[in-house]
Amino acid sequence: MKQLKGSGFFRVLFKMNVLPIILLTIVITTFSAMRFAASMRIETKNGLVDLSHTVVTLYDKLYEGDYHTEVKDGGILLWKGDHLLNGDFEIPDSIKERTGIDITIFCRNTRVSTTIRKGNGERVTGTIANETVVDDVLYGGHAQFYSSTMVEGVRYFSYYEPLFDAKGVCIGMIFVGKPSAEVEGLLRSSLSPIILFGLLTMLIACFVTIRFSGRLVNAIRKMELFLVGIERGELHEEFDQEVLERKDELGEMSRYLIKMQQSLQKLVEQDLLTGLYNRRSGEKILKHVCEDYAKHGTPFCVAIGDVDHFKNVNDTYGHECGDVALTELSARMKEHMRGHGFVARWGGEEMLLVYNGIHLDRAASFMQELLEAIRSKPIVYGDVELNITMTFGLAEGNGGKIEHIVRDADEKLYRGKNSGRNQIVV
Ligand code: GH3
Ligand code: MG
Ligand code: MG
Repeated sequence: MKQLKGSGFFRVLFKMNVLPIILLTIVITTFSAMRFAASMRIETKNGLVDLSHTVVTLYDKLYEGDYHTEVKDGGILLWKGDHLLNGDFEIPDSIKERTGIDITIFCRNTRVSTTIRKGNGERVTGTIANETVVDDVLYGGHAQFYSSTMVEGVRYFSYYEPLFDAKGVCIGMIFVGKPSAEVEGLLRSSLSPIILFGLLTMLIACFVTIRFSGRLVNAIRKMELFLVGIERGELHEEFDQEVLERKDELGEMSRYLIKMQQSLQKLVEQDLLTGLYNRRSGEKILKHVCEDYAKHGTPFCVAIGDVDHFKNVNDTYGHECGDVALTELSARMKEHMRGHGFVARWGGEEMLLVYNGIHLDRAASFMQELLEAIRSKPIVYGDVELNITMTFGLAEGNGGKIEHIVRDADEKLYRGKNSGRNQIVV
């Protein structure tokens, strides 16, 4: 069988299988990553809200009384009961130490206590909150979460909670915040395994698909090549055993292909009435043995046989009886030739016999046995018993042309017919 070419195969495989897998993996991984990032943001927000409530509760527990402000020396001070919060870093620092989260206390819009420090280590007290926060929380009086607020050039996830005085006026804020870079770093390190797992799954799926589809496509291509061979008249090509043994539809189809090949072989090479090789196949066989003789010196003999007075059979008992007789004679000849060579229907009631690998004397003695097998037992057709004989002309292959050997055998047959029939002329 010819070598399979890969033209177009990988392109089709890529479009039909690999590309959808890649796209699907990208979609699923991106979706999972986005969902994960969103839930992480919600988690961060909830953490900040909880911590903010803890800080407020802590101040309430430690320092009794309401929040109130006092203007002094041109500055403004924030008190909780009788405890001054300006410059008091104890609670914010201890919380930062335990949670890693920054805390800032605002008096109005100004940071009066904070854990956030500048590059030089100095705390960023005295600086003011950005306008949006002031509008939302200080003036609006509502707690608010922000996924991006800038403090001293650092981006924060932050939660601001308003602080009210005894009259319910918002006079300050508490900020709890985590640098965005920290959250994103955590997000990146958590997402890496998800993305890696996605990639790995994609690679395995591609590998399995390519292997599986590759085998399918290969089997289909082998079947295609087999059919091309049949179309060219190559009826003796063998088919791939692995494909034939497949348990799926392809295996079944390939087994049908073999049956189709065998049917075609029969139609093209065999004679329909007798089941013997037809003349075309007989000529092919002759050609092969001649080539074998030329190449390896393998001897062979050729005989042509003709049924004696066969016209009488037809005329006396009918054409159908003649057919039965021909079929029975063919079966006896086929049986006799098993292991010795081949027999073909040369035309009408004439047969060509090819003895392979033996010389004339042995072929002649074999033929004598055949003659016995033919004439010793009558052919039965209904009530009729036919005693049929045949005449043969036998010649040995000698490296000459096929036509000459056949003519030689034919002439001997003619001689046999003219000298009493029912014999072999060697
Ligand atoms: P001979 O001994 O000289 O060979 O006599 P013959 O009668 O056999 O010779 P002839 O060539 O005159 O007749 C051959 C006959 O074989 C004629 C033909 O109708 C018959 N025949 C050839 N093919 C078939 C066939 O397939 N079926 C039948 N029933 N008869 C066939
Ligand atoms: Mg005849
Ligand atoms: Mg004849």
